[in-house]
Amino acid sequence: MGRNIIGMTTQQNTSTHQSPKQQRSAAVVGAGQTGVTAALGLLDNGFAVTLYSDRDQRGLRDDVPATGTALEFGETQQAEAALGLDTYTGRAPRHTGLSVRIAGPAEDGERPELIAFDGDFAGYVGVAVDTRLKADERLATFQKRGGVFIVEEVTPQALDTIAEAHDLTLVATGKGGLVDLFPIDESRTVYDRPQRTLLTVTTRGLGYGPEVFAHRGPAGGAHSLFSIVADQGEVWWGPYLHKDAGPTWAFLGWARPGSDWEKRFNTADSAESALAVVKDLYRDYLDWDLPEVLATETISEDPHSWLKGAVRPVIRAGVGHTSGGHVVAALGDTAITHDPVAGQGAQGGLIQAQRLVAAAATHRGPFDEEWLTRQYAEFLAARGEDAAKVTRLFLSDPEFADVGGQFFATAAVDPAFASALVGLLHRPQSFRSVDTAEDAARYVAEVTGADPAELLGRFAPAGRFSRSDYRQLVAAG
Ligand SMILES: Cc1cc2nc3c(=O)[nH]c(=O)nc-3n(C[C@H](O)[C@H](O)[C@H](O)COP(=O)(O)OP(=O)(O)OC[C@H]3O[C@@H](n4cnc5c(N)ncnc54)[C@H](O)[C@@H]3O)c2cc1C
Repeated sequence: MGRNIIGMTTQQNTSTHQSPKQQRSAAVVGAGQTGVTAALGLLDNGFAVTLYSDRDQRGLRDDVPATGTALEFGETQQAEAALGLDTYTGRAPRHTGLSVRIAGPAEDGERPELIAFDGDFAGYVGVAVDTRLKADERLATFQKRGGVFIVEEVTPQALDTIAEAHDLTLVATGKGGLVDLFPIDESRTVYDRPQRTLLTVTTRGLGYGPEVFAHRGPAGGAHSLFSIVADQGEVWWGPYLHKDAGPTWAFLGWARPGSDWEKRFNTADSAESALAVVKDLYRDYLDWDLPEVLATETISEDPHSWLKGAVRPVIRAGVGHTSGGHVVAALGDTAITHDPVAGQGAQGGLIQAQRLVAAAATHRGPFDEEWLTRQYAEFLAARGEDAAKVTRLFLSDPEFADVGGQFFATAAVDPAFASALVGLLHRPQSFRSVDTAEDAARYVAEVTGADPAELLGRFAPAGRFSRSDYRQLVAAG
């Protein structure tokens, strides 16, 4: 069946500049946002492309939760723009910075409130777009331009037939799917299990003006919020573009193993119960932001607007073989899975897709193992490994404890460094050369032009974070 349909594509595809005889064929398995982006990019670069999905288009949009929050920044938006795709920066509420609060572990019933800063995104914005919306819109364009979309759960046997029939086969089936074809790269994979339990829920009820989260800083609701409670975990709120409700706010929480938060997260079984868990969490642990959180409501028309689970951060071999020995490449979460604490998964998948499309468009030889292996090695060197390392920093990995302590304390006293620190989410490469406290001091000096020790000497614990008076504001009209 695959071959007949591929033949049809050759004739139907109007976007190619090559004659049907010369036209190269590609198969992409998995129609999440990474797979669809690669498929559309290859199609627009003259390939005859067949995209395989275990769900039909409506099911991909309406029957599943979003894979994640998918907050992305400038470098990822540039990759999408290079493919001629909408970056959503004109449609989604924009994040112009990240406001951070860090509280220590409770001692004698008191929890010290330690670090507060607001880092501006310097020269770029963040947008968090529902992965279902992005995949749906790109899939519609893909089909309109002559790409072939086949609804079929691809088995390892079927993948062998598909890979035999195509010049290039990409596997973008996410963290599950056909992931076992790509062995874990033990030399690059640090953790043997998930580091956090995750809970997410999307809500409406809050705007983005300076009156929202005004206690955090002048940007108010234009900044997303990240709080760390040392012995429990981390929480994030950010402006989000939901597929049905449009501009909304998303919550994402990380609970440490064995924590009270983990017990609470595990009780969620619907969007409503997830939001109830979140509101209680803010009452009991994060009351500085409570009034805004209490003003949020679930999105009743989308029962899938929440998610719980855990992600083991893993880097896999980027190239695998089918049972018949055909070579296939892993893309997106199938290649690298990040814990979302530093927002690297969706970003990495989109950048990887763009790089692969650009390289394939100009490559004239076969897409063989040597070529695919080189592309993946280059992606790992250009971003993939840096993204994994920054994720470890934001997970408070003990190996980066000194670095993290210095970075977050310095951010609290120096706005330029606060901006550089939150900028690691945009360009994790800046963290590449930082491994020790000495490296961290050198990086601080580079960014600020000041003496790192003098900056650290100015740090004093926040004492008590400003509390929100949003409720009084709303009540006063
Ligand atoms: C809670 C959470 C928050 C996140 N926040 C961020 C963030 O802020 N920023 C960021 O950059 N990243 C974030 N991420 C990561 C990001 O969401 C993912 O990296 C990204 O969405 C993965 O996209 P994908 O297309 O690779 O995989 P998926 O979205 O999983 O798509 C895979 C597709 O393949 C299909 N499929 C599976 N098996 C088969 C088969 N055998 N045959 C055919 N089809 C198949 C699936 O049904 C699915 O449609 C977050 C992740 C989580 C869990």
